[in-house]
Amino acid sequence: MKKSKDHAACSGCSLCLLVCPMWRQHRDISLTAHGYAKALQHGAAAADLAAALWNCTLCAACDPVCPEQIDVTGMILNLRRQLVHPHAQDLQARMEGQTTRSPATQSTAASVLLPDPALREHPGTLARIAALLGIAVAEDDGADIALALEAGVTIPPHRLKRFLDPLRRLDKIIVAEGLLLKHLRLWLPKVRIVSLGEALSSHAAVRRSLRATDLYVIEPRAYHADYQRLVRHYDGLRVASGSAFNLDLQRIAIPATACSLPQRSEVNMADDEGRACWMLHGRKVSRIVVESMADRTLLAKVSGVPVVHLAEVAADA
Ligand code: SF4
Ligand code: SF4
Repeated sequence: MKKSKDHAACSGCSLCLLVCPMWRQHRDISLTAHGYAKALQHGAAAADLAAALWNCTLCAACDPVCPEQIDVTGMILNLRRQLVHPHAQDLQARMEGQTTRSPATQSTAASVLLPDPALREHPGTLARIAALLGIAVAEDDGADIALALEAGVTIPPHRLKRFLDPLRRLDKIIVAEGLLLKHLRLWLPKVRIVSLGEALSSHAAVRRSLRATDLYVIEPRAYHADYQRLVRHYDGLRVASGSAFNLDLQRIAIPATACSLPQRSEVNMADDEGRACWMLHGRKVSRIVVESMADRTLLAKVSGVPVVHLAEVAADA
């Protein structure tokens, strides 16, 4: 998982184009990791790449395929920190304003779940996940920190401390948001940090409930952040269930929803519906099972078959 090389190491091999949803859609190299790295090698500044940087979905599919071991998403986030998204300019002030509050109190449980905003909007599913996994839902889920990471906003140290301190003593943290998961692993190296998709798909009742006619949609950010380990996990799940997965020939997860900040605000070059239709094209599936609540909303719009969250497939088990 540890990658530290930057744009200077890019050889221009173009392998990252094969997996990049922006390349698939626009065939414009300036919207890809290859394009960013080569532009930087030739003296471009973050401001010159702003439009492309804000439209990257941060799916992280380019990270595991780069033969030069460049931390591509780390490079993109560093460049975004030099810009700060216009829709997030008040976020830092809001985070600064939290100074007077006492540290958040978490439950006394040894493990907690950090849901993302899309999951928070479905309290019934959230309660089901907590019951299924026997886990408490964190009072402070770090949603503002996840947003700051992708928006290029500097996280005030006191806010980060307030978020992390109650998490330090835990045995395990289950995280719904892949970008937050990647950073929590760096911030809390002694705590076991697992994606919500991995946690649920390891549960016996959930595994038993998957069918050979399902399409299982992996949430890409968390998967690509831990690709070498998780590819084995999902290969095992694919063999055991017989389900189809949103994986390409390199077993890179094809993203459905682009959940990056610009896609949620104004300019959306990512065309979620087009990509979801492309993912479904030619498949005969009776049900779609998703790890991400945002994917459930999108796929329900375009698929014509039931779309259920992974926590819900075990309802009848
Ligand atoms: S993170 Fe995804 S969208 Fe962004 S450059 Fe990499 S593959 Fe393309
Ligand atoms: S895969 Fe890596 S080395 Fe190859 S073009 Fe993309 S960023 Fe450069």
